[in-house]
Amino acid sequence: MNGAGKDLSGVLVIGGGPAGMFAAAAASLSGARVTLLEKNGRPGRKMSIAGGGRCNLTNTASLPEFIKNIPGNGKFLFGALSRFSNDDCINFFKSLGVRTKEEEHGQVFPAGGRAGDVVTALEKYLLGAGVRIFYRAGATELLFAGRRCRGAGTAGGGVFRSKSVIIATGGASYPQTGSTGDGYLLAQQAGHRIVPLLPGLSPLCCRDKQLCGQLQGLSLKDIVLTLFDGEGKRIAAEQGDVVFTHFGVSGPAALKLSRAVSTQTAAGGGSLRLLADVLPDVAEDALAGELLSAAAAQPGKSILNLIKQFLPGRLAIVQAGKLPLAQHGKAGQAGKETWRKVARLIKYLPLAVTGTRPLSEAMVTVGGVSVDGIDPRTMASRLAEGLYFAGEVMDVDAYTGGFNMQIAFSTGWVAGRSAAGRPCR
Ligand SMILES: Cc1cc2nc3c(=O)[nH]c(=O)nc-3n(C[C@H](O)[C@H](O)[C@H](O)COP(=O)(O)OP(=O)(O)OC[C@H]3O[C@@H](n4cnc5c(N)ncnc54)[C@H](O)[C@@H]3O)c2cc1C
Repeated sequence: MNGAGKDLSGVLVIGGGPAGMFAAAAASLSGARVTLLEKNGRPGRKMSIAGGGRCNLTNTASLPEFIKNIPGNGKFLFGALSRFSNDDCINFFKSLGVRTKEEEHGQVFPAGGRAGDVVTALEKYLLGAGVRIFYRAGATELLFAGRRCRGAGTAGGGVFRSKSVIIATGGASYPQTGSTGDGYLLAQQAGHRIVPLLPGLSPLCCRDKQLCGQLQGLSLKDIVLTLFDGEGKRIAAEQGDVVFTHFGVSGPAALKLSRAVSTQTAAGGGSLRLLADVLPDVAEDALAGELLSAAAAQPGKSILNLIKQFLPGRLAIVQAGKLPLAQHGKAGQAGKETWRKVARLIKYLPLAVTGTRPLSEAMVTVGGVSVDGIDPRTMASRLAEGLYFAGEVMDVDAYTGGFNMQIAFSTGWVAGRSAAGRPCR
């Protein structure tokens, strides 16, 4: 295979995920001749499974809110998100015939509910715009002329020469989708520093497997999870839904905390503890008072059944098991001090955390190509002329809610225009 041959006028995009496809679209709209290399047999495999197959495309949050939802170098992304915003993204999809709808918390999905349709529409658009797409073409090296990046070579011996190159190979999570971290090696060839990779948006593993087994499948709505280090220092807290799994906890609040957990464990931060506040809107004293009144009204009722009025059955049994009287006693037998203890049991569930699930199972990669070496206005490499970056290959990561996809779209758009010689103003 000898793709772009000696044609040095064009833009070469490496990676056909959302960042690469948007980069190709923007470069092509800017008048460049565009070639896209994708190592899979089809584009956007990760995008096709995103959001449970529905793909949360973006979020209607304001720009400041967007940045707050990007713990991994949010400020670096300010320029890209202003130059190609969530509204620009929604309008671009509309122009492709992909209508969108807004759901809870500003999350935007394709109205048809199928991520695959969005990928198909993007691929169709690119082909219609004359972008040459090479599938099963995994780039293995960058080509240079002095300090200038002039194309890439593929595993099959293909040589693709171009005026500029955009690395949009994604992170290293869910490698079965094609995101195997190749972009880090390519970037290193140009002298870029790689910030160590960690799992982001990953479920948390807990030490007490028996407890996890007892609670597996249980979901708790809108609770507060607080993370403490081994010395009891509060590290972070998140409010949201949580689901128990056979290994620990998942759900939005747990996923949000996972960045802090993986950072702490990588730094050898010792044992970590989670405290779940199951009833964050009720103070412990008020709860003890409610229990006392309920007990006075129904002295013959078992304490366990009283606890079940506040907690789902399985959790009530687990918590009552920690206090002998609560397991077997009647409400009338308990004094004020017992109700105080019961209130604490109802409100708080402590969990010892051992870490997160591995990077291969995480939704995003924390770390990647250091943003120090990238110009935030253009996504251009500061180290090699003609080289650009887009998407998750960079050291950027956000919370759930459509923010990661928008990062891919915005940085892809900005990189595409810049690489084509028409930077966004
Ligand atoms: C299960 C799951 C669900 C998710 N759901 C959402 C969601 O609903 N909303 C949201 O905002 N985010 C979601 N994310 C995160 C989001 O999918 C990613 O942040 C986004 O896909 C990153 O886009 P990207 O283009 O940078 O990288 P990727 O989507 O990873 O695409 C990179 C592409 O480059 C190709 N490639 C890699 N190496 C090479 C090479 N050497 N040569 C050629 N091609 C190469 C890969 O095959 C791949 O197609 C989810 C992630 C996962 C894992």
